[in-house]
Amino acid sequence: MTAFEAISLDKHYGEFHALKDINLSVEPGEFIVLVGPSGCGKSTLMRTIAGLEKVTSGDLKIDGRSVTGLLPKERDVAMVFQSYALYPHMTVAENIGFGMKIAKRPKAEIQEKVLAAAKVLKIEDYLNRKPKALSGGQRQRVAIGRAIVRDPKIFLFDEPLSNLDAALRVEMRVELARLHKQLDATMIYVTHDQVEAMTLADRIVVMNGGVIEQIGAPLDLFNRPRNKFVAGFLGQPPAIFVRLDGHEVKGSRLQVQFSGTSVDLPAPENQTGTPVEIGLRPDFFELDPENPDLSPQVEVVEQLGDTTLLYTRLPDGQQATVQLPGQVTAKSGDRIPLRIKCKSPLIFDEAGRNLFA
Ligand code: ATP
Repeated sequence: MTAFEAISLDKHYGEFHALKDINLSVEPGEFIVLVGPSGCGKSTLMRTIAGLEKVTSGDLKIDGRSVTGLLPKERDVAMVFQSYALYPHMTVAENIGFGMKIAKRPKAEIQEKVLAAAKVLKIEDYLNRKPKALSGGQRQRVAIGRAIVRDPKIFLFDEPLSNLDAALRVEMRVELARLHKQLDATMIYVTHDQVEAMTLADRIVVMNGGVIEQIGAPLDLFNRPRNKFVAGFLGQPPAIFVRLDGHEVKGSRLQVQFSGTSVDLPAPENQTGTPVEIGLRPDFFELDPENPDLSPQVEVVEQLGDTTLLYTRLPDGQQATVQLPGQVTAKSGDRIPLRIKCKSPLIFDEAGRNLFA
């Protein structure tokens, strides 16, 4: 049985169509990450699942049962937001157990569940502290603890780590991955952080303007994005798109010409569209002084220690970001000899469909 299903879900706010025919099926124990540009409907989808927003049409099912008409508390989901919303006058233990206390659960059961959740989250030493005496990461753990003791059918996380500093985010990200394994829980998670999406998700859902553009395993989406939007959205720094000057199919090979060079690729299987654009990810380039395809001019150099980012301009004036392994000596104004190796080629037709998807 699926843990969660959205079936032909639509949500209007007056005239505004915020969710358009959303169909999503989540398996028990799956970690689903929703990504997309600001305003694309991620939070709206989460809020409709939680029951905080009414759907305009369509159905939501949890464990095969329709919950569309149910109140939030009847749905058996727990939501963790970006703001922890802890009660400042209560201790950590009281905050975690508050929902159970309201539900009039026996004291011993509350104590037992609070301690178990605190152990999972490694905050058992702070149970008697008030939130103000905790770090941001510890506070977020308390908020997650509050969700864990409810033992919900689905955990909903709406950007839970975005208030934390970079180091804590990484730490909490790993903790969340561990927690997901340990609880074997179904989780739906919203983030703007590409690394969180790529590392935590079993499957990523890419949204855009209220629609789902593509659903798939992180590397499948990265390597075989269905269209230009998904190709440009996943990947940091993002891919650039260059108009083709021409193309030729030679048996099982496809040759594409752009920016004064040409690249030889395996012809896509089941090709139906006409290639008009190529997508180049920063790591599609390698240094090759002997036999370069292109020698773009370097504008800005960023040394990251293990890699070097070069912001360059192609002969036709387009900007291209180039990521090279190691510490490459280059300065602004240099021409850098590069060979192109499309690891997972991105070639688009006029409608923006990837011919290699
Ligand atoms: P962000 O990444 O910035 O949090 P999001 O993808 O979560 O964005 P939503 O908060 O779901 O986006 O909003 C989707 C769209 O619906 C936005 O254009 C927003 O302005 C609109 N919207 C959200 N809530 C309401 C509301 N109560 N009334 C009218 N429009 C709304």
